[in-house]
Amino acid sequence: MATKKNSKDALTATEIKEIKKHLEALKAEAEARLKDKKNMDMPEAEVGDPIDVAGQSMDKEILFELSGNSHNTIGQIEAALRKIEKGIYGRCELCRQPIPKKRIKALPFARYCVNCQTSSESSSR
Ligand SMILES: [Zn+2]
Repeated sequence: MATKKNSKDALTATEIKEIKKHLEALKAEAEARLKDKKNMDMPEAEVGDPIDVAGQSMDKEILFELSGNSHNTIGQIEAALRKIEKGIYGRCELCRQPIPKKRIKALPFARYCVNCQTSSESSSR
């Protein structure tokens, strides 16, 4: 592995395969966890957890991504898997730039590059 620079940060087919496996495992895990919690199906409506209050409107998705909510995680994983199918995996949904491999490996269902993620985070404050 002679990595010179991140100039070409594209994922190889093998890496995508690995990530896909990883995503499928994550999805199974999240689904199992969700079944466990079936009895507290709609916590947000009643409990009024501060994270939800803060993100009542359109920043909800981003907040969920950060808080690791199982239900939303499944949605994100599915979206990532769909992107793999379509061959557009690994790109930021906002600026269409490739998401750095390092970030993909840390957060395989990341939808945005660090720049876009950071700007949405600071605008939600
Ligand atoms: Zn971006």
